[in-house]
Amino acid sequence: MFDKVLIANRGEIALRIQRACRELGVKTVAVHSTADNDAMHVRLADESVCIGPPKPADSYLNIPALIAACEITGADAIHPGYGFLSENARFADICSEHGIKFIGPSAEHIRLMGDKIAAKETVKKLGIPVVPGSDGEVKTEAEALKVAEETGYPVLIKAAAGGGGRGMKVAATAEALPHAFATARAESKAAFGDDAMYMEKYLGQPRHIEVQVLGDGKGHAIHLGERDCSLQRRHQKVLEEAPSPALNNSQRAEIGGIVSKAIAEMHYEGAGTVEFLYENGEFFFIEMNTRVQVEHPITEMITGINIVAEQIRIAADVPMRLKQEDIRFTGHSIECRINAEHPTNFMPCPGRINNIHPPGGFGVRFDSGVYSGYFIPPYYDSLIGKLIVHGLNRNECLMRLRRSLDEFVIDGVETTIPLFRELATHPEIIDGVYNIHWLEKYLDNLA
Ligand code: ADP
Repeated sequence: MFDKVLIANRGEIALRIQRACRELGVKTVAVHSTADNDAMHVRLADESVCIGPPKPADSYLNIPALIAACEITGADAIHPGYGFLSENARFADICSEHGIKFIGPSAEHIRLMGDKIAAKETVKKLGIPVVPGSDGEVKTEAEALKVAEETGYPVLIKAAAGGGGRGMKVAATAEALPHAFATARAESKAAFGDDAMYMEKYLGQPRHIEVQVLGDGKGHAIHLGERDCSLQRRHQKVLEEAPSPALNNSQRAEIGGIVSKAIAEMHYEGAGTVEFLYENGEFFFIEMNTRVQVEHPITEMITGINIVAEQIRIAADVPMRLKQEDIRFTGHSIECRINAEHPTNFMPCPGRINNIHPPGGFGVRFDSGVYSGYFIPPYYDSLIGKLIVHGLNRNECLMRLRRSLDEFVIDGVETTIPLFRELATHPEIIDGVYNIHWLEKYLDNLA
């Protein structure tokens, strides 16, 4: 096992990783910007190093400062969390050049999955179903028209380097295609410095269902079931649940089996998530995330498996003890991402939290780095914390969610709690009949 892990992140995920380290007997190093001097992840770590000014490019994304912090403190591994450098293959390479273990997959796998065209080709060869569309890159408008002719309209033009929904445009007709192709391409060039494009059939009413996997990098892999993250706003997940209300046990075992077999064959190391769109009983791969995800706790709640601790154990080369037949799914879990945002127009509301009283009790977990008197800085995302509840079944879970949201007090900043109170009592949410467009339509109707 490692002696000391440097956590290259902030906020709730930095604390989450710190807690896993403590329970494994591993010392922790927090890094922070000058805006985070008073942050909880800094207070609770064994050691901390200030790595720069508030702007992420100067601190949390500052690779030389992070490597220097490792060298000063003698940390033997880096956990990147999510966001920031977590999917940066160059960073993974630099860590290994300095003899520091990057807790995550190989740089080669990060690079492969970061190129969505290459990722799609790879997983297709490994037997994972993908969205019908172009065979690799689409270079010209004429080619795009030809692909659309074959797959049928509407089509989606996507960026190979894409992320966060940028560089993505729908074309409903052949007339609309040239403009959509050109704007998606320009957007991709501007956002990612890369304009390689590909195309997919645009699915009308899919759900977003993702499969959590763990691999040992040596040919053994398991899946921990799925999460349903269909409730999204601007391609950002808002509320997630596990298991998905849309799947039964045999569908779960089938897609899980396909994914874990592919991951094992790749010799993938660590935690990962394979994301699908799901429509009319069929799964279509969209991308793989090669890191721990924000919504990982709901999987922990229904499996009892500490995903972050498993990541660290795998990286430390501890033989993976989990086998597929050991994984039991118990009950239901829901996560709400509580942001410091206006509940209907979603304007960020950074500022001081005068008082916070999170809910507690049986089956309730609140992963957060904030406290009464904490000042939410304006430089980073607006996540205050994640409310995660577990129940023996979906109904009990929803009842517990409502009671937890009713107990929640956050005073000083606007939060998205009122939105979650509405969602937790909405008949269509209760029935579980929603798709990736549901939340935006619901919000449009309010406005
Ligand atoms: P990004 O990496 O930019 O987030 P994804 O490929 O993960 O891109 O897609 C983001 C979101 O866009 C999905 O969750 C889904 O809502 C929508 N989407 C992606 N591909 C399709 C498709 N073929 N049809 C319909 N919607 C899609």
